[in-house]
Amino acid sequence: MSQFTPSTVERRLLMDRSVPGRRSVRMPAPDVPRAPLPAESMLRKDLQLPELSELEIVRYFTLLSQLNFSIDTNFYPLGSCTMKYNPKLNDEMASLPGMAEIHPHQPDSSVQGALRLMYELQEVLGEITGLPCVCLSPLAGAQGEYAGLLVARGYHRYKRDGDRKVALIPDSAHGTNPASASMAGFEVVTVPSDRQGNVDVEALKKLADRRTAVFMLTLPSTVGLFEPRILEITRAIHEAGGLVYADGANLNALLGLTRLGDLGFDIAHSNLHKTFSTPHGGGGPGAGPVLVKAELADFLPTPVVARVDNEYRLVAPKNSVGRLSGFHGSFGILVRAYTYIRMMGLEGMRQISENAIINANYVQSKLKADYDLPFGGRYSMHEVVFSARRQKAVGVSALDVAKRLIDHGVHPPTMYFPLIVPEALMVEPTETETKETLDGFIEVMKKIAREAEEKPEVLKSAPHDTPNTRLDEASAARKPYLRWQRNGAAAPAQP
Ligand SMILES: *Cc1c(COP(=O)(O)O)cnc(C)c1O
Repeated sequence: MSQFTPSTVERRLLMDRSVPGRRSVRMPAPDVPRAPLPAESMLRKDLQLPELSELEIVRYFTLLSQLNFSIDTNFYPLGSCTMKYNPKLNDEMASLPGMAEIHPHQPDSSVQGALRLMYELQEVLGEITGLPCVCLSPLAGAQGEYAGLLVARGYHRYKRDGDRKVALIPDSAHGTNPASASMAGFEVVTVPSDRQGNVDVEALKKLADRRTAVFMLTLPSTVGLFEPRILEITRAIHEAGGLVYADGANLNALLGLTRLGDLGFDIAHSNLHKTFSTPHGGGGPGAGPVLVKAELADFLPTPVVARVDNEYRLVAPKNSVGRLSGFHGSFGILVRAYTYIRMMGLEGMRQISENAIINANYVQSKLKADYDLPFGGRYSMHEVVFSARRQKAVGVSALDVAKRLIDHGVHPPTMYFPLIVPEALMVEPTETETKETLDGFIEVMKKIAREAEEKPEVLKSAPHDTPNTRLDEASAARKPYLRWQRNGAAAPAQP
């Protein structure tokens, strides 16, 4: 039986299972004095709580857990999110009492081990990226971008070069890039892509001038490709007096193969909750460290961990752009990343990327006869972007393909991104999947391509096997029913 097909009885909501008078536990009579109740006006007469046996509660929550889709149950090729398998050991390390139970207000002297871990993580991330000065405190990729852009702004102001107000950003950029740049006070100017999906270098050179503060580039690009003229690009921006920012949210294709600093980037952020062993798609906490070359270290956010006289201390860089989070960042995520990197070793880093790249190219070459490749079949990096435009011509959209994958127990790939690819399906297999899993996925994708030709209605009504089938996604997002009401009437959420 599929994980999605609980019986009708089992699928009832918790409140609908309630039977008046049914109990789970009987509390013992109190053996301490009763505390007085609050004033009458503060008390509710009627509180709708479900009355259930303990077993029914256990079944209900176990069912909810089984309805969750996760990397621990199924293939999850969600492009740009790097939903790789994360070894459980990393979670165990993060839950050690010395990691999980320390308090951010403890004096530095009592948490030397934790500070050392942060210091060594800064060092090793610096080594992996070639940008040696690191602040771990940003809580997400987008916040890392914002931090890095504040560094760029701080640097130009410090040099009394405050007229540099423009952030140049390619049209293929992740949506967070222009958003972060405008939050950091820059004027965003879009750089077009050429027909191969690369930055149009000639257009970029025309745009780079004395108003250019920073050029922000995602590498590999959002179409999963390496920027072939990267050295020429970073040189051109430097010649115009600007800084070059790498959106290194996805480092899964670069580890041990090349370094952002060596390519001429000055500033970057990286998502530990993609590449370094915390899932991104899970909606949990994240960590988006910001990394800079030595010349920009004084502008980093505060705090960074420094080693002074054999002691680890939290310090504020001299011209710091300020504090970005309440304390020092998502410490538990940092522990996971540190454990992961130490377990893999630097040699293992390279293997991660080589396997991630091979897996993406394997999927690309096996499916290129069935789905269009927007940029003429160049080799991919860690992910491959297909276009369902051929299917669209017979009335089946990328959305229909994605929904049909759910029937086969595969999480849909990222869709309709990047915006420069029509009917985009962005597949990131990651290095942790076996050839058998990839072959299974390829077979399903081929079957779906056949169905698009032969019986498109099967795709348009998919998924068929889930508790809810095709949702009206706009209403689901804008008018969700979040409150249960007696008589089965669901109440819309309060605006
Ligand atoms: C995921 C991602 C981001 C944003 O990271 P968040 O942690 O979701 O804020 C930025 N840029 C790229 C290229 C990404 O893939």
